Amino acid sequence: MRNLIALLACWSAAHLISVANAADGAYGSPVANRFRANVDNIRPISPMKVGGGGGAASARGLSADEKVADKGKKARPLTEREKEEQAEAELQARIAEKVAAMKAQQAARAAAAAKAKKDAEARAKVLAMMPPPRANGTHWGYEGEIGPANWHKINSDWIKCSTGNRQSPIDIRDGMKVELEQIVFDYHPSAFNVQDNGHTVQVTMGGGNFITVGNRAYELVQFHFHRPSEERINGKGFEMVVHLVHKDGEGRHAVLALMLERGKPQPVIQTVWNNLPLEKGEVSAPSIVLDPNDLLPQRRDYYTFMGSLTTPPCSENVLWLVMKEPVQASPAQMALFSRLYPLNSRPIQPTSGRMIKESM
Ligand SMILES: [Zn+2]
Repeated sequence: MRNLIALLACWSAAHLISVANAADGAYGSPVANRFRANVDNIRPISPMKVGGGGGAASARGLSADEKVADKGKKARPLTEREKEEQAEAELQARIAEKVAAMKAQQAARAAAAAKAKKDAEARAKVLAMMPPPRANGTHWGYEGEIGPANWHKINSDWIKCSTGNRQSPIDIRDGMKVELEQIVFDYHPSAFNVQDNGHTVQVTMGGGNFITVGNRAYELVQFHFHRPSEERINGKGFEMVVHLVHKDGEGRHAVLALMLERGKPQPVIQTVWNNLPLEKGEVSAPSIVLDPNDLLPQRRDYYTFMGSLTTPPCSENVLWLVMKEPVQASPAQMALFSRLYPLNSRPIQPTSGRMIKESM
């Protein structure tokens, strides 16, 4: 019986070979060779092969032949396809590694950026709570970086130049016409000195010259010039203006403004020009006297309102008295000042609803 089974097996194998030959047409063809190799290799499948753990073959009771076959399998060189698969697997592993590294880098960068943003926000919060750094510059002018629009930034004590609501100069209009009391002038010929202080020509007066207005006496401290006039009257500007700065016993200011227009020579102005020092900052102290009465116009009607100094620190609570009648100065006297100061006027400031009174 066993022989019969063996015979049947042989026959079926031979039959299969002959079928393959017939299909291929030649015994040596690759298909036939492959088929024969497969038949030669027919043997029971070891359970270890399924699990892939060939190394433990002897422990599982494999035959000596099977051990040899197992070894032969291990040593077999890789086929092209296996090599390709292995290379591809390695490549994919490297790509995965690279992608993971890039992702980690991105995450680190994002975390660093988030931290930097948070830190910056925290710093900004702290800065916002701190008062702005104090500025203590003293160099100001009428144009550019140091011009009127930036005075408040130059020195922290000049903040009124920006935030004040009673600033000067203004365009004087819509005054309330009332019976204003006369300004009482108590001026005398006085010693004086002259200085070009870098902003204007300033004449500092010896003591004893007063005006009285509103039952209050103010002493003349100094007078100086602007070109063109800082104040305007109903929109009209003048070629120059003289500001006579007075102070009362409590330090309150009253500034009397005299508009200058072209006409005959002005004796006080001529005296001042005659005594101009050669250098800026120098003070000339002539041995002659000067009478400020000689500066005043005939008519003493005036406008009055509250305002400020028109130069830093732009202090407010200054009483302004602007004479309605302009004073004349010669074109040559005007020209001389314009060579020193072609422009030393602060622009017009908002009136902000303040009251303006004028003589009837
Ligand atoms: Zn002035």
